[in-house]
Amino acid sequence: MVALSTPPGAGALAVIRLSGPAAMGITAAVFSKRGLPEAAGHTLHYGTLRDPQDGAILDEVVVALYRAPRSFTREDVVEINCHGSDYVVRQVLALLLRQGARLAEAGEFTKRAFLNGALDLAQAEAVADLIAADSALSHRVALNQLRGGFSQELRDLRGRLVKFAALLELELDFGEEDVEFADRPGLARLLAEVRGVVAGLLRSFELGNVIKNGITAVIAGRPNAGKSTLLNALLREERAIVSAIPGTTRDFIEDEVSMEGLRFRFVDTAGLRDNPADEVEAIGVRRTRQRVRQAALLLYLFDLSEMSPATVHAEIQELTAGLALPVLAVGNKADLTPAASQEAFIADFQAHQPGSATQVPLVLIAAEQQRGLDSLQTALLSQVRGSTLENTAAASIVTNVRHARALETAAAHLAAVQAGLDAGSGTELLAADLRHALAALGEITGEISSEDLLTSIFTEFCIGK
Ligand code: GDP
Ligand code: ZN
Repeated sequence: MVALSTPPGAGALAVIRLSGPAAMGITAAVFSKRGLPEAAGHTLHYGTLRDPQDGAILDEVVVALYRAPRSFTREDVVEINCHGSDYVVRQVLALLLRQGARLAEAGEFTKRAFLNGALDLAQAEAVADLIAADSALSHRVALNQLRGGFSQELRDLRGRLVKFAALLELELDFGEEDVEFADRPGLARLLAEVRGVVAGLLRSFELGNVIKNGITAVIAGRPNAGKSTLLNALLREERAIVSAIPGTTRDFIEDEVSMEGLRFRFVDTAGLRDNPADEVEAIGVRRTRQRVRQAALLLYLFDLSEMSPATVHAEIQELTAGLALPVLAVGNKADLTPAASQEAFIADFQAHQPGSATQVPLVLIAAEQQRGLDSLQTALLSQVRGSTLENTAAASIVTNVRHARALETAAAHLAAVQAGLDAGSGTELLAADLRHALAALGEITGEISSEDLLTSIFTEFCIGK
């Protein structure tokens, strides 16, 4: 099989990759340098590609050879480094297809690597995550998974449970006779431990999601509070429309900023007003409330010179009624307010906190002057850390929905084993639940897999991966 492995479009170089027993032979048939099929693996060869039919030279290339099993797919692999024009790439691909290669399907290189035992399923999925990683943390998590950290943790868990499962199966083999090979209190202790690890991994999924997909922070507040100015300051580029006419930002403008390895997606919203001036604005306000409901964090922005602390608390409560949402109150235009008034405001704001359980942190800034943005960043990070980062005791972080679902299934079956032990259930029931739990854990790394599962995973990949 063959595919372009670099992104389509013009570039200095493009890499076309072949994998399979015929890879060397097909390449040799169009390559100027002799002796390619006999060359050692892990070597580079410079030459020209020519069409054997008319002798036309297509490109000057460097060919990298990898011999089975020392390659990504564990098969013979050839990587042709040619010039990165769409035309050249298309011609080279067509030439290789005429020699008997076929186009690879999406994710087929990684799928072969999995089927040939080079990677387990969780590692194969990490390849996709690694390619997509765009912050330091998501990169680190994907790399740990690719290198097998997560898989090892799962294998350890399974290994310990398998021992007990085997003893329970042995009891079943003895049938009528009332024998207990598996030490029940020992099983209970092991179960408690394994369930703890599984629960920790499940909790890490929340954080994993944050790392992989970013944190959506909605910036809401009255018109003219300075929402667009703040978004611009955060993004350090002129993306949102800033204007002195209230109610200008009607559509959502959002962008991503990476802070200390965490990705924030800031959404600038239409201004909130009780009596919107026109219908378009009214729709905007309704949609703002909707966005707040979907957010992971609310940044409530207000004009410090215009609002009383009591009003700020009241508006935040109205926006977040019924939601368990971390909120940050941000007083803007601090440049227009004397220091003494600022201090009085802070004291009054603290005094008006609605209840001890819902302390809203307050930060004062001047968005236009880019002042106070560091404190804002610190407050943002600590809000997020408080709600998600803290509860990750697990060594690995789960970022994949499929893994989380399998862990949930395993957790449910492990709970059933526990309940069975507590109720003194027969060996048969215990063994069945344990088998299901093991199957769920095995699905994550692909020790147990179906063709459907593999297809659904690998078609998510792009062609050439
Ligand atoms: P939005 O409607 O909440 O998006 O508000 P804008 O970002 O469009 O800003 C409204 C007005 O307030 C603009 O004229 C800004 O220049 C001004 N403004 C924003 N931030 C500050 C600030 O920190 N200090 C002062 N003095 N004016 C600001
Ligand atoms: Zn705006």
